[in-house]
Amino acid sequence: MHEPQAICYSDGDMTAANKKILYTLLKTASDSLEGYASPEFPKTEPAFYDDEPECNAHAPDSTGEESTQGQLPGGLTLGALARKVEACTRCDLCRKRTHSVPGTGAEKPFVLVVGEGPGAEEDMQGLPFVGPAGKLLDKMLASISLDRRTNCYIANIVKCRPPNNRTPLPEEAGACIPFLESQIHILKPRMILAAGRTAGQNLLKTGDSLGAMRGRFYDYGGIPLLVTYHPSALLRDESLKRPAWEDLKTFRTKLLEIAPDYAADFGKRS
Ligand code: URA
Repeated sequence: MHEPQAICYSDGDMTAANKKILYTLLKTASDSLEGYASPEFPKTEPAFYDDEPECNAHAPDSTGEESTQGQLPGGLTLGALARKVEACTRCDLCRKRTHSVPGTGAEKPFVLVVGEGPGAEEDMQGLPFVGPAGKLLDKMLASISLDRRTNCYIANIVKCRPPNNRTPLPEEAGACIPFLESQIHILKPRMILAAGRTAGQNLLKTGDSLGAMRGRFYDYGGIPLLVTYHPSALLRDESLKRPAWEDLKTFRTKLLEIAPDYAADFGKRS
């Protein structure tokens, strides 16, 4: 079900075939040394944007020292990925952005939350879900002991704001989703919560309606994925709060099975 985008190789003398062999060798070595690879982890290779120019700017939510935790065998860190996002010109959304919005959250999250794309406030701050929908999302997550500081990471299908908050076009989502796929490989979340139709459709590569996608877990390369309502939909229609809460309880039940200690640090101040 999880179909990664084509991998773009362009640098140096190394052929794509050699890079692939090197990647496999490094990944095998890294897995056995660090012992943190899970058999549930997606087998697919991450898609990198090796054709993007390097950029020295830091991710807007970078906290200084770049950690090497969660680093891919190829060396790609969240920070490096954020810089690639920041320099990206693969679709027209780059033209009007104030900031790209790569994502933010815990370095070793139990849960990855995926939204649609940045809105006005997110574009201003370079951070996901910081506007009204973000405030509600934080409350929804807190209701099942998740937060973006200790156990959760938040990202979007597209990393730049679509004009007037329209739904991202298929070509925009298609150009951007390799970044999300790389984030998933780096972060190795234990579960994924897809917020809204756009997130569900693009992660699951389906044209199904939100109603059809809700109500069951999908296997995203070994990671259980649940689709629920986008918080913006709950702001528009209060009656959706009840079914959304049912989704969150379903999500929590599964998360407790997989990672009983997922909330150990929830609410702790660093
Ligand atoms: N809506 C989204 O889908 N993502 C954001 O980051 C903000 C609002």
